[in-house]
Amino acid sequence: MYPDIPISYKKIPVAQNFLMYEFFYPDFSAWYKIFAKSFLLSSSLINAAQVIRTFFGQPVYISSVYRPKDTYGFHRYAMAINLHFGTDLVTLAKLKTILRDHRNNPPLFKCLRETGITGFGLESNHLHLDLRQFYFNFTDQIGQYQLFEI
Ligand SMILES: [Zn+2]
Repeated sequence: MYPDIPISYKKIPVAQNFLMYEFFYPDFSAWYKIFAKSFLLSSSLINAAQVIRTFFGQPVYISSVYRPKDTYGFHRYAMAINLHFGTDLVTLAKLKTILRDHRNNPPLFKCLRETGITGFGLESNHLHLDLRQFYFNFTDQIGQYQLFEI
């Protein structure tokens, strides 16, 4: 679950539908491209992005990953990722509904939990996933997690 994959701006596959640079570009390069060429990312987050991509069968975009200058949150440690569906807010709404209904154990939720995801944040235009090991709100039968809305 902890950062284990060196991520850089390379157009090489890291999952069925994702190239490495998609995880690098969003925030990190804008701040650090002059000083650093890579950072470590948890493969759990890459796998989670692929789970969502496969489930919906349409492009998923990564808007944020590593934000080392943040003062709080899991993006500081490259232990969080933000995903969106471009202008397709219908699919995002569908995803939110599935996650809110997690107690029925829909396949998507179980798959995300199996990748190691423990934090689920629902925002107006994207989904935040993270690998928190503490500060859970509650526990259910398939593990600890937090579902929150901003
Ligand atoms: Zn986030």
